[in-house]
Amino acid sequence: MNASLWVDPGLCEGHALCIELAPEIFDLGDDDVARALPQPPERSWEHVKAAVDACPRQAITFQTSAKGPQQ
Ligand code: SF4
Repeated sequence: MNASLWVDPGLCEGHALCIELAPEIFDLGDDDVARALPQPPERSWEHVKAAVDACPRQAITFQTSAKGPQQ
């Protein structure tokens, strides 16, 4: 299983809820926009999903797939 994670910088308002829920995955940049590990490890997926649900701006896109990355 692979995962891809992305924060939309146009939507993020730097509330940092995602960082509270998954500090190993998210970080806040100097511009107050969250950054995310683009391919979070599977052990963190539950934290990532909690962050997706908690984000008040729906700025986080998280997708998992059974196949590897498209070649
Ligand atoms: S919870 Fe959403 S709006 Fe807040 S910092 Fe994280 S991605 Fe940005």
